Amino acid sequence: IQVEALVEDINADSIEALVRETDLVLDATDNFETRYLINDVCIKYERPWIYSGVIASYGVSMNILPGDTACLRCAFPEMPMPGTTPTCDTAGVLNGIVGAISGLASTEALKILLKSEKISHAMTWIDLWENTFDRIELPRQEDCPACGQHHYEFLESLQGGSSATLCGRNAVQVRGTTRRSGQKLDFATLAERLQPLATVNYNEFLFRCNIDTYEITVFPDARAIIKGTDDEQVARSLYARYIGM
Ligand SMILES: [Zn+2]
Repeated sequence: IQVEALVEDINADSIEALVRETDLVLDATDNFETRYLINDVCIKYERPWIYSGVIASYGVSMNILPGDTACLRCAFPEMPMPGTTPTCDTAGVLNGIVGAISGLASTEALKILLKSEKISHAMTWIDLWENTFDRIELPRQEDCPACGQHHYEFLESLQGGSSATLCGRNAVQVRGTTRRSGQKLDFATLAERLQPLATVNYNEFLFRCNIDTYEITVFPDARAIIKGTDDEQVARSLYARYIGM
C-alpha cells in the first residue's frame, strides 16, 4: 500500500479529478456541503462511498453504492439550513463514538474493496450514551435529484456556498446556503448554541459573535463576514465549525 497525502480544498472545481481515479471514497469530513458534493461526484462516476458522521455521543454510517443503494440525497433530499444542526464545536464529540463509527466505516471499506457478500445495505445509527444501535434500510427514491435524475446540483454549484476575500479588510465573505430563497436563519437558536463558546449579539438584521481573534457576522440569508483572516479556507472552516454548512 502506498499512501499519497494531498493537502487540497475540496470544492466543485477540484473534486472530480480527485474522485475519478479512486475505487472508493471514505467521508471523514465535517460539513454537509462537502458531503453533498461527494455524493454528486460519486454518483456521476459510479464510485462507492461511505458516508459517516459523529456528534456528541452518536454517529451514523452508510454505504452508498451507486445504482444499488439509496444515496445521500435519497436519505436527506436537502442540506440542513446553516445554524440548525449541532457542530463539533457547539456540541462536542465523545471520543468513543469516533472509534465506533470509524471502525464500522473502515471495515465496510474492506468489504466493498473485496466485493464481499456481507456489505451493509443499511444506514447504521449508534448512540453510545443511550445504548442504541439501529439499522435502517432506506429505499432508493426515483425522483432523487442525484441518483434518480442525474442532476448534480452541488457539483454544478447550483447549490452550496462560496467565499471571497474582501480586499484589504482582513475579512472573508462566506455565502452559506439557505434551502429556499427567502428563508431566514433563526438567530435565537444559533445564539443559544454559541453562547457557551463566544460573546454573542444579535438583532433582527445581523448576528455577531467573537471567537478567539475572529469576529463572525452572519446575515439572515446565511451570508457571513469573517474578520480576522484573509484566508478563504480558514474562513470557510470557521463557518462550518460554528455556524454549520
Ligand atoms: Zn439518490
